[in-house]
Amino acid sequence: MSERMNVFIYSKHDESSIEKKKMVEEALIFEGFTLMETHTKANIIISIGGDGSFLQAVRKTGFRQDCLYAGITVSSKHSMYCDFHYEDLSQMAKAVQEAQLEVRKYPIIEVTIDEHKPFYCLNEFSVRSNIMRTFVLDVIVDDTLFETFLGDGLIISTPTGSTAYNKSVKGAVVDPLLNCYQVTELASVNNNKYRTLGSPFILSGDRTLKLHVHQDGNDFPSMAADNEALGIRQVENIDIVLSEKTIKTVKLKDNSFWEKVQRIHL
Ligand code: NAP
Repeated sequence: MSERMNVFIYSKHDESSIEKKKMVEEALIFEGFTLMETHTKANIIISIGGDGSFLQAVRKTGFRQDCLYAGITVSSKHSMYCDFHYEDLSQMAKAVQEAQLEVRKYPIIEVTIDEHKPFYCLNEFSVRSNIMRTFVLDVIVDDTLFETFLGDGLIISTPTGSTAYNKSVKGAVVDPLLNCYQVTELASVNNNKYRTLGSPFILSGDRTLKLHVHQDGNDFPSMAADNEALGIRQVENIDIVLSEKTIKTVKLKDNSFWEKVQRIHL
């Protein structure tokens, strides 16, 4: 148990978040956790806030493989990644003790843009037109040209990201026990020249996906990894695979993915 008690807390820096962080810190100390100044020495990384904060905590700490992530909410609103409420942290202490037996693993995708360093996404990678014009992308599955897309953009989502942006554009909600990723369209144009499937599709984690951007003068699409816009402007090829890495969280009774989907989305 002592192995899993070093906690790093990620929160926003506004006044209200700092105040809530203090309350969480006191509650964690009471439960026997040790607070760490930096995430490198922690084996539990906690976000305070909603799903957006959880996504940032995972990104800012480098998608660590050697620790558990947990989301603590301070409001009454339920979130997909936040399993705990700050007023009941004894529940978290208990879950962490049992975590060796009950770890939940969320698939993530790995994205490489041209020669840039690969990066990870827990919710989704999105590529969309930067200006009030469409753009063209070749969608290549396992080295075979599948379709040529004309429209606003594409979203490539993980199973846990399937309830986020993907769901708003009528993508399917996907069980995170499945190792796969989903491609959803943003307003495709279908005419005599360009034709796409027109519906979301789910790729096995064993497949590779390449998006080839057709150059159109100086206009390039904008891209985002979860809730962070990428600074890369010029792009030709985007390679996407399901990563061998996962994000590990604690598993709780009565809080499975589908119970959360029911609670939040039904
Ligand atoms: P935001 O724009 O402030 O909030 C987007 C909403 O999505 C929030 O209510 C957020 O929950 C929720 N959310 C985030 N991840 C989710 C998930 N896996 N399942 C269900 N809901 C989820 O941005 P944010 O809070 O930083 O979240 C970033 C995410 O927003 C992106 O990764 C993208 O998926 C999503 N997004 C959605 C749309 C859309 O649906 N039209 C457009 C852009 C981005 P919390 O309130 O708990 O944070």
